[in-house]
Amino acid sequence: MSSLKTSGLHIHNLQVAYQNGQLVLGGMNLDLPEHGIYTVIGPSGSGKSTLLRAIAGLLPGYGGELLFNGRPVHDKDTLIGLVPQNYGLLPWKTVRDNLRIAMNIARPGKGGKHKLEQERQITRWLASMGIAELAGRYPLSLSGGQQQRVAIARAFAIRPTILLLDEPFSALDAMTREGLQQMFIRSWQEHPVTALFVTHDVEEAILLGQKIIVLAAGQQEPPELVDNADVFAMKHEDKRESQEYFEQSKHIRKVMMEKW
Ligand code: ADP
Repeated sequence: MSSLKTSGLHIHNLQVAYQNGQLVLGGMNLDLPEHGIYTVIGPSGSGKSTLLRAIAGLLPGYGGELLFNGRPVHDKDTLIGLVPQNYGLLPWKTVRDNLRIAMNIARPGKGGKHKLEQERQITRWLASMGIAELAGRYPLSLSGGQQQRVAIARAFAIRPTILLLDEPFSALDAMTREGLQQMFIRSWQEHPVTALFVTHDVEEAILLGQKIIVLAAGQQEPPELVDNADVFAMKHEDKRESQEYFEQSKHIRKVMMEKW
């Protein structure tokens, strides 16, 4: 099979229908090289969350093929991290425990020296999200922005092969969101996982994505993959004011006008 040679995430003829028979994804094809951030935008109901759920293995079934480096994404070798909009933390566990439990589930059965290294990693990821001092706190005592930092630290700490983020910053105020976008990019540079980042915010899609996947309103219409390498290559704090960003915004809005 030719698709076995493809490296990165290979989505071939992905079809999803829910129980009511409604076709949500009608044969989607995408080839996404490994180690990239791919932002996904599309009108409400275009299947953004469904795409993530299919890759995360949260759907009872789908048609087509989902491969990562030539192997089915749901193979045991592929570790998938998910950051949901509502943080998904265990409220009865401390921040540190939330990370530790996720790491133990993701990579079970290691003790001894590994334990010390694990605690060191937890501290490191919390520090990289600027929340080292919150390690002993419980999630419900934290602000939304702090909880989302924990969720992102946890997602990176399990060292996933694929990281899926479903509008992770949409519930946060603008300033908090900008800070987290920057921290997300920094964490990704430390661990350049293949990431699919769903957002409804065009600005966020351009600020974070190496490529931008624009889903169409019609389920049968193919998504448009927009290259965003010029913006992606810039220092994060310079992006928003740049000519490249301005040009890309114009282009994406044009694609949206055609597809939505
Ligand atoms: P988006 O994330 O782009 O808003 P979704 O993937 O959430 O889109 O939904 C796509 C379509 O699938 C919508 O029409 C939605 O109503 C429908 N849908 C989503 N989840 C379910 C479900 N569990 N059962 C039935 N229909 C669903």
